[in-house]
Parts: sequence; C-alpha cells; structure tokens
Amino acid sequence: VKVLLTGGSGFIAAHIVDVLLQHGFETVVTVRSEEKGKRIIDAHPDIPKEKLSYVIVKDVAQDGAFNEAVKSTPPFDYVLHTASPFHYNINDPVKDFLDPAIKGTTGILKSIKAYAPSVKRVVITSSFAAILNGDKHPKLYSEQNWNPITWEEAQDHAKVYRGSKTFAEKAAWEFVEKERPNFDISTICPPLVLGPIVHYLNSLDAINTSNQRVRDMIQGKFKDGLSPTGVFIWVDVRDVALAHVRAIEVAEAGGKRFFVVAGYYSNKQVADAIRETHPQLESKLPSTEVPDDFPSDVYEIDNSRSREILGLKYRALKETVSSTVESMLEVGA
Ligand code: NDP
Repeated sequence: VKVLLTGGSGFIAAHIVDVLLQHGFETVVTVRSEEKGKRIIDAHPDIPKEKLSYVIVKDVAQDGAFNEAVKSTPPFDYVLHTASPFHYNINDPVKDFLDPAIKGTTGILKSIKAYAPSVKRVVITSSFAAILNGDKHPKLYSEQNWNPITWEEAQDHAKVYRGSKTFAEKAAWEFVEKERPNFDISTICPPLVLGPIVHYLNSLDAINTSNQRVRDMIQGKFKDGLSPTGVFIWVDVRDVALAHVRAIEVAEAGGKRFFVVAGYYSNKQVADAIRETHPQLESKLPSTEVPDDFPSDVYEIDNSRSREILGLKYRALKETVSSTVESMLEVGA
C-alpha cells in the first residue's frame, strides 16, 4: 500500500514517515530540494529504496504543482498533505501564507482528481487554528467549532497563520462537496505540537515553530519571566503522527474532522516539568515563584472522537517535555 506525504521536511511529517514505515506503507515524500530529500533518505539507511523515496515539489502554491508528484507506479492509495507555512517571517500575508495554504490544499486535491484515480483518501493537516475563536471562546471546543475569522482579519500578521489554516480546511471540504471526487478526506486539527526534534532536519537555530518555547526555556531565555502561553492546549507530535496514519487505516475516519488534543498546559507547567525531569537545567529556568498564566475559567475540550475512532491514547505533558528536552540536549542545547 503506497502513500504520498507532502512537506516531508517538516517536523510533524518526519514523525509521520516513521509511523508509515513501521506500519508497512511504501512512502514517497515531497520536498522542496534534492538536498532535503537526500537527508531524509540518508537518515533511514536500513529502509530499501522502494519503501522510501522522494519527489520534488518546489512550491505548493504554483498551479499544477502536484500534477507530476501524484503520478506513480504502482499508483498511490493514500495522500497525506502536511505542507503549509508555519513560521513568523511574514512579508506578504497572501503570498507567504494564504496562497500556499489554500492553493496548496485545493491544488493537491485537483491533481489527485485529475491524475491519481487510485487514491481512496486524502488526510489533511489542519489545526486547532481552524477551530478556535480568538475573540470569544465557547464553553467547549470540539470538531463542531470553526474559527469565524474573515479574509480581511487574516491580513493582520498576528492572525494570518490562523486564517491560512481555516480557509485551507474550508476549501478542502468545499472541494469534496462540489467536485465529488473518487476519494474522501479526513482532517487532523492539533493545537500546539510538542515533541522530540528530528535531528536530521533541525539545528537548534532553525527549530520548528511549536518547539521554540522549550528550546528558549532550556537556553535560559525565560529566566527573568515567562512569555504569555497563548493557547492553553497541546499534543505530542508522535500522537499527531499516529493520528494521520490511523486516519488512512480506519474506514470510519473518512469524511471526518479530528480534534487531536492531549490536554492543557501553560509555559509555567512546561518549566516545572523540565525542573522535575532535568534538574541539572534548574539554573536556566524561571524561578518557581513566577506566576502561572493558566486561566481559572479555561474552555473545555472534547477529544473523544479521536480516541474512539482513531484509537488514540494521548501522552502526558511530563513525558513529552522530557523527551523534547532530551532530543535538544543531544544536539547541544
Ligand atoms: P514545519 O515548518 O516543520 O513544516 C512545514 C512543512 O511545509 C515543511 O516541510 C515546509 O517545507 C513545507 N512548506 C511550507 N511552505 C511550503 C511551500 N510553499 N511549498 C512547499 N512546501 C512548503 O511545521 P510543522 O511540521 O509544525 O507543520 C506541519 C503542518 O502541521 C502544517 O500544515 C501546520 O500548519 C500544521 N500544524 C502544526 C502545528 C504545530 O504546533 N507544529 C499545530 C497545528 C497544525 P520547507 O521545510 O522546505 O520550508
């Protein structure tokens, strides 16, 4: 059974590669350069080349970007689409974020419909950003909620990432409804993703966005006070990776959105977890007296669909923080 995984050089995608290979899938990743593709292959020396390979897709926002990548012999059974910008280098909100997120998503669905009739399901990495209402939290968050952000609001640099994820996921559901392709889709909506960094991809300077706060903490950058937590929910990258693979393995996952969330956290709780699992880092961490910004009236979260249909069991914060820190110490944080 053969899978195309987009954005193979990403943090979450690297963990998805591992789960796909463990579960026996033939895996082809898309990357933007030969160099990134080679790094992935070199990191898996024991995997035969018919089990793991790469194709180049330079920019997902280009028309027809995936027309060639979706063609394969033997043909693909499933596609996992993770590629989408997640960083803070914004010059032009439309060109840098909205186009690659939205056109990347509709583009791959169009290419599959036109050139890959064997594909049965496409799993798309969306986000809690597409669920969240930043202005007014509901009492409970589940797959039923949609971010009400408008196109105009999404031009704001602080909101464009959330807009990009919201419009991209909406566009995917609209595509399936209007075009009635041969495949169905599932979407995976994680909040802040923490977990071990992938050494063959990341240096500590170029670490993926969601792990940056952990790196900053163990490098002493929050010694004099923590920055605001932001969104108070999180999930482990290995659980997110498994969710993507289960979404192709479990028939009932088709046509569904999954809110993949482990639980609550705050930056203070992350610091305390590091103190407990890595006491040698105490001198880098903010003092135990630093206030916790975790709100007393926090929203509720419902992850029952992901547990019941995908069979997920979520890792606890302490375990995740510990292995994230460990992975960073290995590269000399
Ligand atoms: P990374 O930045 O590590 O991965 C993003 C991937 O997308 C990279 O492979 C990147 O390629 C690729 N990409 C970005 N823009 C383009 C483009 N224009 N053309 C081709 N490829 C592109 O982030 P994550 O692994 O964290 O994110 C993966 C997915 O998960 C994204 O869809 C993100 O929105 C989603 N997500 C992440 C969360 C988190 O907390 N980490 C939370 C919720 C959702 P390159 O490396 O070459 O730039």
